[in-house]
Formats: sequence, structure tokens, C-alpha cells
Amino acid sequence: MQGYRGTPMIHITLTSAKQSPADDPLGRTRYGYSPEMTSKEIFDANHGYYILGARADRERYALFSAPAKPGPNKVVLAVEIASIDPVPGKPGHRQIKGQWLEKGHPVFDSYVGKPSPVAGVRNPVTYIESAEDLRLCECGCGTEVSHGPFVSGHDQRALHERVAKIGTVAEFLRWFDQTYQGRGEEVGAGAPELLHGRPRAFRRGDWNLDKYEWPGGLELFIYDDGRVKLGQWDSSVVVQDVSNFAAGKSRSSAHVVAVFTPNRSEEDPN
Ligand SMILES: [Zn+2]
Repeated sequence: MQGYRGTPMIHITLTSAKQSPADDPLGRTRYGYSPEMTSKEIFDANHGYYILGARADRERYALFSAPAKPGPNKVVLAVEIASIDPVPGKPGHRQIKGQWLEKGHPVFDSYVGKPSPVAGVRNPVTYIESAEDLRLCECGCGTEVSHGPFVSGHDQRALHERVAKIGTVAEFLRWFDQTYQGRGEEVGAGAPELLHGRPRAFRRGDWNLDKYEWPGGLELFIYDDGRVKLGQWDSSVVVQDVSNFAAGKSRSSAHVVAVFTPNRSEEDPN
């Protein structure tokens, strides 16, 4: 049952089966795991004793994993916790009391016999984090991740796959800056709202020019020989500035600033 993937749990990593000391406080003759052991035998040999902090008291289930060569550790036991009790003669250590689960219980079916959800830790007692920390890689590859949103490297790969759809990194940056209007929803639309509206573009081959015409009446003509003409119907124009910056430098640029003022008619109430 998928619903139990991501339930917080105690996770205990077992060693291979070993003989217990004669004075074992739990009266065991052995601890650890060997493949012929039954669930009851695994539980009896390994329900304690461990250093289990206050956090353990909040968990409802415990998983036990053991080496399964070749391959990663495998979950060999799932227990529903009844209580976590002190161990007589072993201050600071506690034992798990509860019921080992059988096939058919969703926790058993989700975990037992499968690769351990916890890998590469030295401490035998760890915790399976919340659902936030046990989920699928955000890149969509379907791999389960235990820390963070991505399998290592998949975030970079996902990002660069998207950059490549636009072009080079430089082309991507230009596209993004043009598209992103400071509101996230505009990114997908790719068509930002413009205060002056979108110009219609015309090719006038007979006049050797491209023409752009804005809804407000502004017209931009770009001639094939490089001349640029700006116009607006029913207006007068003042050229405010003509500048040539840093001529001869690698990024020299020039501009013309023109302001159009609509001609007022006598009837205009404004
Ligand atoms: Zn991934």
C-alpha cells in the first residue's frame, strides 16, 4: 500500500547473526540476522537493546534491515510498536515491545523483502523521515529519494535539458529575461502584457521597408538601407536627444529619443 511509503518509522540495521554474551540483559542467546530465522526469531533476537531517544516514542512502526549480499541491505522484519521500555541493568538503553507483522499488513507488504530505505549510515538506529523526505525525484525519473527533492545530479540534468530546448545558456537567459515579467504565471505563457500593446508587422517590398504599427498609432519603419523612421498620426514630434556613446569602443551604441504629442482638436474636451 503506497500510503505507508513515507510514514515516519524507526529503522534498525542488523548485523549478521552473532552469539550474545552470557550475561545478556534480555536473556538472548544470539542477536543479528541469518536467512533461516523466522519473524519471531528475528524479533526476539533484535528487539533490544538500543539507544532510543524521545523521538522513538512517537513512532508506530519499526523496520529491521540486514545485509543481503550481493546488493543493498534488505528489510527483514517490520514491527508494530506497543511500547519502548527500559532494559534492566542497562541504563540509557531501551527495548521495543510490540508485534511483528505478517504478509498482508500494508507496512509488511510495502517494505519487507525489499531494499532498505536507509543506506550508508553507521548508527544502527535511524529514522525514516516524513513523507516530504521519502518521495520520488522531482525530475520525473521515478527514483525514490530519501534526502532532498532530487537524486544527486538530476536537478542539473533537468535544468540543462530545458535550457537546451531554447538554445545556448546565453540564449536561454535572453529568452527568460524577455519572458519573465516578475509574475511566475507569465513564464509559461511566453506572451507578456505590454503597456502599449503589440505592434503588427508588415513587409512592404515595394517601398523597401519593414513596418511596425502599434495600436496607438505609432509607426516604425526600418528601411532596407538601414534608415529608421518613426511616426505617429495626428501628432507633432520633438527630438529630445541624439547621442553617440563611446564611438570606437567594443560596445559603442547610439540612440535617438523622440516624443510624439497628439495634436489637440478644438472639440477635444481634454
Ligand atoms: Zn531524477
